Amino acid sequence: MSVFKTRFTETFGVEHPIMMGGMQWVGRAELVAAVTNAGGLAVLSALSQPSPQALATEIARCRELTDRTFGVNLTLLPTQKPMPYAEYRAAIIESGVRIVETAGNNPAEHIAEFRRHGVKVIHKCTSVRHALKAEQLGVDAVSIVGFECAGHPGEDDVPGLVLIPSAANRLKVPIIASGGFADGRGLVAALALGADAVNMGTRFLSTRECTIHPAVKAAIRAADERSTDVIMRSLRNSARVARNAVSQEVLAVEARGNVSYADIAALVSGQRGRGVYEQGDTNLGIWSAGMVQGLIEDEPSCAQLLQNLVEQARGLIKHRLEGMLSYT
Ligand code: NAD
Repeated sequence: MSVFKTRFTETFGVEHPIMMGGMQWVGRAELVAAVTNAGGLAVLSALSQPSPQALATEIARCRELTDRTFGVNLTLLPTQKPMPYAEYRAAIIESGVRIVETAGNNPAEHIAEFRRHGVKVIHKCTSVRHALKAEQLGVDAVSIVGFECAGHPGEDDVPGLVLIPSAANRLKVPIIASGGFADGRGLVAALALGADAVNMGTRFLSTRECTIHPAVKAAIRAADERSTDVIMRSLRNSARVARNAVSQEVLAVEARGNVSYADIAALVSGQRGRGVYEQGDTNLGIWSAGMVQGLIEDEPSCAQLLQNLVEQARGLIKHRLEGMLSYT
């Protein structure tokens, strides 16, 4: 049952103001369908598929698991091998997907092409100036990512508590607050700060339908809020990852100075990170996790998670917050 009605739920036609954004190696059909069926908006991660054809197949597989609307994430950041972005984009459009989350650098060409085909675009970015640029390009919503996040936080290091209201002060389009969200307290805070929804990633890793190895889910539940590292700062491609032997090695190489990507390429390779999720050895490579892992203690189904989250948020507003008012 719908508890909240926001510009996000209205624009994207979903029950809850909750999104599962792109997650490399994790955003696959099973999890995306589970979040979608639970009333959230979820996106498949395009680059987790080895080719545009494989992405089309994954979209079809997801359609077999849900008859509701889901989207696709297209991340535009440096990669070891050149990515055929235009072909991935074409596969998304030709598959009839109606919602896309773009993330990363220079999205203009992609946003224009998606819009030309009537696809709604959410651009995920880490600064107000990039959000304003995306708004000018005609996106339907902006996902604004605070420094707490997993993955790429940008280089400005502004946490959500300041970044979200700063974005809300300047933007007209709906805002999705991203980075550091895992429960109903975060949802209430995000709405109070001016957002229309929250985006969660790390929280969805420890859900029943997430297909990653149970040992990785257990590591997330065991970790506290300090157990992440920000690597690749020296390359201006910062990434927040779960602290492990490999992230510490990357930081040690970076601390020596004068680093080029080649010096750390073998350590940070996405294929090694993929092995972590598949084999359950959390020291096999780099894998993304946000500070919010310190708040994650269970492994609910996605339906339970979303229901608990909106109910907790409703209870907080009705009882805790209203109860604090000395007059109304
Ligand atoms: P990959 O194996 O090609 O690269 C591994 C990491 O190194 C990535 O973070 C990538 O951005 C970075 N990188 C690659 N070439 C670089 C260069 N020349 N200079 C600086 N940094 C470089 O990537 P992958 O793991 O297969 O991932 C594919 C895409 O998905 C990348 O764009 C990556 O950034 C992105 N991704 C996003 C998230 C997220 O949280 N949004 C998480 C993981 C990966």
